[in-house]
Amino acid sequence: MRFVRFSAGGPPREGVLLPDSTILDGSGVWGDDSMGPAWAHSPRQFEDACKKRGDRLDREEVRLLAPVLPGKIIAVGRNYAEHAREGGNEVPAEPLLFGKMASCVCGPGDPIEIPEGMGRVDHEVELGVVIGKTARRVQKGQALEVIAGYTVLNDVTAREMQRADAARGRPWFRAKNFDTFAPIGPCLLTADELSFPPALNLSLRVNGEVRQSAHTRDMVFSVAELIEFITRWMTLDPGDVVATGTPAGVGPLLPGDTVDAVIDEIGMLTNPVVGTA
Ligand code: ZN
Repeated sequence: MRFVRFSAGGPPREGVLLPDSTILDGSGVWGDDSMGPAWAHSPRQFEDACKKRGDRLDREEVRLLAPVLPGKIIAVGRNYAEHAREGGNEVPAEPLLFGKMASCVCGPGDPIEIPEGMGRVDHEVELGVVIGKTARRVQKGQALEVIAGYTVLNDVTAREMQRADAARGRPWFRAKNFDTFAPIGPCLLTADELSFPPALNLSLRVNGEVRQSAHTRDMVFSVAELIEFITRWMTLDPGDVVATGTPAGVGPLLPGDTVDAVIDEIGMLTNPVVGTA
């Protein structure tokens, strides 16, 4: 199921994005909050309930929103060897983790805002793994059990600030955590739709020009290894996202650009870039 959140003028609604670009409206088909979100437990039941309800909207008529609102995003640095090399870095011996706060998240079509004087700001297309169950001390063999599905994430990074902070021994925190620096979408593709580990092409275009193109098989640490490593010390909650690292080809974004981040099966996440004071 391709689960979406969207607005048709009113409050956010949930639904299912179909291959023909229509959306099945899921308003009111799922029970109260005590059942947990539909995407985490019963994608088939939710889709069937939406079909029974029968209301369809055209994707072009609505505004898609971030498909989930994560409590936290745990991101992985240098998880593709070629990307580590292009930054002049070694491939880490164990996963290199950092955090992106919930306040960075925006949805498809939302502008990525670059404050004036920020210096270089880069795009980073990444497979986002959406957690479906409370996950603590999960062995890699059980990782799939805590995964609800996948989304596209653009780990927008204030590169100059990141380098300057790193040179002074400071964390990457602020360079990774500007408002709008974590667009996610267009949907949450539930895990039952893919084999595991997910084998997907990912790419990114700026103004139609391909900047990044790679395959998830080239990850240094697999999705399962990442979940085992992270949950050794930290609980992941439903809706949390693991951003699994970006491949080579990162490059600058400028106000006026349009960024398309694309992953097979999940779809295209498009965002305009704007400058702010
Ligand atoms: Zn990244």
